[in-house]
Amino acid sequence: MKETRIWEILAEIPDPEIPVLTILDLGIVRKVAFEGEAPIITITPTYSGCPAMQRFESDIKEAMTKNGYEGTEVPMVYDPAWTTDWITEEGRRKLKEYGIAPPEESSADKKALFYEDDIVNVTCPRCNSKNTKLESQFGSTACKALYKCNDCLEPFEYFKCL
Ligand SMILES: [Zn+2]
Repeated sequence: MKETRIWEILAEIPDPEIPVLTILDLGIVRKVAFEGEAPIITITPTYSGCPAMQRFESDIKEAMTKNGYEGTEVPMVYDPAWTTDWITEEGRRKLKEYGIAPPEESSADKKALFYEDDIVNVTCPRCNSKNTKLESQFGSTACKALYKCNDCLEPFEYFKCL
């Protein structure tokens, strides 16, 4: 099936914000189809606060062109909205290895965004301690918050985008 080749190419496109993750790890690709010879790749962009969001479309088109596909379309669907629950198991494992705490359950995650006082149970990616504290709502990008572990004393980033 010619769609298979498209999925293979998509599996090699890194997330613009966290290069250890691919866009497939993020779970944003909803559907791959063809219109004639042109790939139609439907995506659901991540949280709109992510500056990375505008880059998904251009990165996908660029990768398709490089692989000899012409006229690629990247329609976006916003319903249902992307949540961090869509990040694959593989993606969560890579985040942790990279030293970024993977998102907790989305309900807890939403709470973390809106009620600062409740952000107490983010798990340290190094020692798995829940004894962590928020240092800053803003890490290296708008999608990450800066935490510090009270047990191993290591600072780490938490992926907070919804
Ligand atoms: Zn720790």
